[in-house]
Amino acid sequence: MNETACWKCKKPIDQSDNYCRHCGMGQNSRAPWYYQHWGIIIVMLMVGPFALINVFASPLIGRKAKLIYTVVILAFTAFLFWELYRFVVQMNSTMNSLLNGDLDALNKYI
Ligand SMILES: [Zn+2]
Repeated sequence: MNETACWKCKKPIDQSDNYCRHCGMGQNSRAPWYYQHWGIIIVMLMVGPFALINVFASPLIGRKAKLIYTVVILAFTAFLFWELYRFVVQMNSTMNSLLNGDLDALNKYI
């Protein structure tokens, strides 16, 4: 019997256990989906930087991978904010043109 510890409650379990004998938490590939690598990606696409919470809490992701995820998630978030900023600036200038009676400003969207 190879002993290891549950990542959640830290109590001893066997390495072959798929679920913790004490708290019932799934181990390794049976851990909750949002701690799996693919789950982190989905969470990032849904809630952006809040996915970092799962990255740090995940028992499945190593230290190096956590660093990589952090950089990727922050870059993704920065990109979204940049795109939003550009959109707002563009809309603002179009609105100003329209208010000044310049209908040609709409041609950018057609
Ligand atoms: Zn446990």
